[in-house]
Amino acid sequence: MDFASDNASGADPKILAALVAANSGSFPAYGADPYTQRAEAMLRDVFERDCVVFLVATGTGANALALGALTPPWGAIFCHEDAHVMDDECGAPEFFTAGAKMIGMAGHAGKIAPDTLRETLAAYPRGLVKQVQPATLSLSQATECGTLYTPAEVAELTAIARGSGVRTHMDGARFANALVTLGCTPAELTWKAGVDALSFGATKNGTLACEAVIIFDRALADDFAYRRKRGGHLVSKGRLLGAQMIAYLEDAHWLGLARRANASARRLAEGLASIPGVRIPWSPQINEIFAVLPRRIDQALKSAGSRYYDWGARGLPEAQKPGADEIFVRLVTSFATRDYEIEQFLDIARRAG
Ligand SMILES: *Cc1c(COP(=O)(O)O)cnc(C)c1O
Repeated sequence: MDFASDNASGADPKILAALVAANSGSFPAYGADPYTQRAEAMLRDVFERDCVVFLVATGTGANALALGALTPPWGAIFCHEDAHVMDDECGAPEFFTAGAKMIGMAGHAGKIAPDTLRETLAAYPRGLVKQVQPATLSLSQATECGTLYTPAEVAELTAIARGSGVRTHMDGARFANALVTLGCTPAELTWKAGVDALSFGATKNGTLACEAVIIFDRALADDFAYRRKRGGHLVSKGRLLGAQMIAYLEDAHWLGLARRANASARRLAEGLASIPGVRIPWSPQINEIFAVLPRRIDQALKSAGSRYYDWGARGLPEAQKPGADEIFVRLVTSFATRDYEIEQFLDIARRAG
């Protein structure tokens, strides 16, 4: 019963098999191989655009390199105050931009509200020499609270940003999970809604270690190849990244994996919601569930060996904050979550509740 994160699972077997198959033979190194080229072409098809694609090994690398491409050293990166780029990347965005400043914004359930963005941008006027210059908006899709921006919401935020000369990056560590819930196309959720660069996550949804930076405006990609090499993300046996991405995308496999993960979360959330004393502050939209549990239930689950994170009170409005005998937790399912794990978890929670 491991609900700590979707990267607690291994690689999807089909993707692992593709990796083993691509292991034979010899190919040009550093991404000049047919696997990488095919993966890049497939991503251009998926996004219905002649975008520039760079495969990298980690999500932090994707985010920091993408932000580096969009943001000068004296720039400001606007994001949610609980964003992964703000809190969970050990300063990589600051490092890869050579010193840009992260500006965190508050917002319910992990989302940035249009008015908050307007007010924040107003506090960073262009040309004021003593302040960092407005450069980049970074949106997490899905957010760190497992909530989503609809394409219309993305478009509204990117339009506000563009009005201040600010470009938009999207952290799509859980892009597939968001996409299958929203039911739109990858294009509608990104460049058609004004997104300039995307960190296309795949590792949490089934690859072993492969993500992509997708740059929709070719002019922004001119020096990206050097950034990636200098940042240590040009994998020399690049075909092994390419093979993962091909197997991930082929036959819409990635969407099936995300649907499975999301369906497991729904089952788990429905079960939890029916237990007296458990509160679900916002209904899960992807494969992450946030729940306020009575401490006796939490203790029973943990002593039975189940794993998940205590989440403090992040994202919760004042009225919903956990009481003294409660705890706010995050539970994450993945493509590899088994039904029996969910049943066992709910059984223990019910008995303790
Ligand atoms: C997991 C995650 C990442 C990427 O993390 P890595 O561990 O570096 O691969 C980026 N953004 C969000 C929101 C994430 O959850």
